[in-house]
Amino acid sequence: MHLSTHQKRPAGTPALNRVEAVTITHPERVIDAASGATKLDLARYYACAAPHILPFLRNRPVYLLRAPEGIDGERFFQKHRGRMSIPGMRLFDRSLDPDHAPLMAVESAHALAGVAQIGCIELHVCSATADRIDRPDCMVFDLDPGPELPWSAIVKGARQTRALLDELGLRSFLKTSGGKGLHLVVPLARRHDWDAVTDFSRAVARHLADTQPQEFTAIMGNENRGGKIYIDYLRNQRHASTVAPYSVRARPGLPVATPLAWDELNHVTSAAMWHIGTLPDRLAGLARDPWEDYFNTRQRLSVSMKKQLGM
Ligand code: ATP
Ligand code: MN
Repeated sequence: MHLSTHQKRPAGTPALNRVEAVTITHPERVIDAASGATKLDLARYYACAAPHILPFLRNRPVYLLRAPEGIDGERFFQKHRGRMSIPGMRLFDRSLDPDHAPLMAVESAHALAGVAQIGCIELHVCSATADRIDRPDCMVFDLDPGPELPWSAIVKGARQTRALLDELGLRSFLKTSGGKGLHLVVPLARRHDWDAVTDFSRAVARHLADTQPQEFTAIMGNENRGGKIYIDYLRNQRHASTVAPYSVRARPGLPVATPLAWDELNHVTSAAMWHIGTLPDRLAGLARDPWEDYFNTRQRLSVSMKKQLGM
């Protein structure tokens, strides 16, 4: 297992358990046995990554994967306000999801430290913002490799998916999932409803599975997918979610879902390549933001694209 910077605090050094004006309780609790990372390390990671992660959270319902005892303990996925109050959390108007407690937004470094304080490890997001919740602002392709696939095959699959999107005239942005696969994100103008985006993404997935059947499948739970990539397009439904860029994952080593420039893909060796111990150095060392153009890219799904996909 990797050695990470967070293990190097000399014994006897008092932990400063205030992060972004939030008091972190049980700061020394080890939340990941593999790396020895503590709850305080998690809070500090989110404080450090805040300028990078917050643009992806602004005005957007956020869902929390909480594991208060650490990644080996009980975990739960929280979509609505619970009983515990979270420092800095903003609550959306009830009308956004009328049958439930309010949806939540994390929009400051203070709130990011606040979610770490309540044992939240992963942040997942809706593909639409609250002001136009019926019009997604991105389309996500989740490439899930079958268990037998070597990493080189998932890299190739991501390039093939990008190539099809390029042919259609759609720019895509790449991130590791922090788990096993890669995510391609296509920023959209907020013109199309959820059904339109789901239909379009299904057509993309099926096109890949039809034209490159050795490599791709678009059928969930396909028993024979051992050597194939399942392209999960169902992330593009109204109540689905995707792990946020720069979110930590509740998996051994605390990997981070990491935005990449396409030309970095050659040098990436796994979907869990960066973790909370190394991501801050990556951020500090980057000459430019790998997703620099993300928020300036607003694309429409046109009739001619649909024709190309046989829709
Ligand atoms: P990998 O590369 O390993 O596939 P991933 O992020 O693509 O990583 P998962 O970690 O399996 O995939 O995440 C599953 C999806 O379901 C995520 O998009 C997440 O937002 C959502 N999700 C996760 N847990 C829950 C839950 N308990 N309830 C509802 N949705 C969930
Ligand atoms: Mn996946």
